[in-house]
Amino acid sequence: MRPVIEQSAAELARAVGAKEISARDVIEATLAQIDAVDGSVGAYITSLHEMARASALAVDRRIAAGEKMRLAGVPVAVKDNMCLAGTRTTCGSKILGDWIAPYTATAVQRIIEAGGIPVGKSNLDEFAMGSSCENSARGITRNPLALDRVPGGSSGGSAAAVASRQAVVGLGSDTGGSIREPAAFCGVTGFKPTYGRVSRYGLIAFASSLDQIGPLARTVEDAALIYEVMAGHDGMDSTSIDRDVEPAVTAMRSDLRGLRIGIVKEFDTGKLGHEIDALYKRAFADLRKLGADLVDVSLPTAEFGLATYYLIAPAECSSNLARFDGVRYGLRVDGADVGEMYERTRAAGFGPEVKRRILIGTYALSSGYYDAYYVKAQKVRTLIARDFQRAFEECDLIACPAASSPAFGFNAKSDPYSMYLMDYYTIPMSLAGLPALSVPCGSVTGEGAHEPLPMGLQLCGPLFSECALLGAAHAYEQASQHAKEYKLAI
Ligand code: GLN
Repeated sequence: MRPVIEQSAAELARAVGAKEISARDVIEATLAQIDAVDGSVGAYITSLHEMARASALAVDRRIAAGEKMRLAGVPVAVKDNMCLAGTRTTCGSKILGDWIAPYTATAVQRIIEAGGIPVGKSNLDEFAMGSSCENSARGITRNPLALDRVPGGSSGGSAAAVASRQAVVGLGSDTGGSIREPAAFCGVTGFKPTYGRVSRYGLIAFASSLDQIGPLARTVEDAALIYEVMAGHDGMDSTSIDRDVEPAVTAMRSDLRGLRIGIVKEFDTGKLGHEIDALYKRAFADLRKLGADLVDVSLPTAEFGLATYYLIAPAECSSNLARFDGVRYGLRVDGADVGEMYERTRAAGFGPEVKRRILIGTYALSSGYYDAYYVKAQKVRTLIARDFQRAFEECDLIACPAASSPAFGFNAKSDPYSMYLMDYYTIPMSLAGLPALSVPCGSVTGEGAHEPLPMGLQLCGPLFSECALLGAAHAYEQASQHAKEYKLAI
């Protein structure tokens, strides 16, 4: 039998369910790996050793009582912007201090009910704003495949934890690419479901019309399993969609026959340099070899995605983050009166990127500018969604890069705009609410890199096409086996 920490969620849940191994042993093996490697990776802000041990005993008792669970004993990394009752939840910010969540997010609750065991709260860019985890006030996370590089962001802690075997699967949140980009950088699969598929109850809001929880995993099948467990209507989230969730795990396929896959004319990979261009050309050719028909599609307004997102997301963030004012949660810095207390608390508690977004968002929403910026951005958002609708009349799925480069070095993107550009390929799908994923598609040398660095192929489909998307990604993953090329640097 392969070492416990190398196994997939599906394998572990089966073995624990069949009493071939106890949940306790699975958790001990995982905690030992955390103790051995997290000092050099830094995937977790808070480790949950004691809670995980107690949960493992509870799972073993449920198994002994004859209960069947789809995730029995599976160790899960939970991004630290999701509430887990009784544990510290920081959002990678100073402003939350040591705030303890009084309740558990629905998505996390469903994982726990299915037998999954949170082993740690993982690092993220502050309030999920960023693409490298460098915006966290709670320390840096290193890419486990190249320790001098970032793991991506904002769900970089979960991606790094899964890649370095400190969890079998991870939960991330994706507002403009925060599951797909770190998945690509760390050589794992990351899946953002259709907006509204997974409840946002208990996910601390960044941009509410875009935020979506999804899995990070070492196999597409595991991502499908976690998605299936989390998805479905929740009365606690008014934007959660009341629609049946089709079984995703049974939708895995072994070829792509009969599928039309769109290649986006405007996403010319030639601009990404010779090596990256060749990698994506090979990935597209591999899709064809598996039986897909490649068709050219056009998304003429996608290039405005970045500008649109960087108005809408800050606008929503400026409103959502107004609640952190020293009155109710975490940090409070006293002042002469309540106004001064707000000012001092927010000045001390938020980092520079969060402040920048609050300022931009407040400006875009202010009277006199609202129509010119916020309303205009909403109109462009509609045009982008319509472009996708038109494209999906000609194809079933779209294939494109997940990110324009592999993982970069620390402090390599010091001006905000160059960091924002990392989301060029992921933001249009987010604005349109579409399901999208990143699956390993090989590696490139990367500037100044000592080792080859992973890249991700992004696949995206129409609203609610989760099964088609995951099924196709599985066929590609199984035929190409790129994840096997990646070597851990720890
Ligand atoms: N990198 C993007 C941002 O900074 C996306 C973040 C996310 O998806 N949470 O906003």
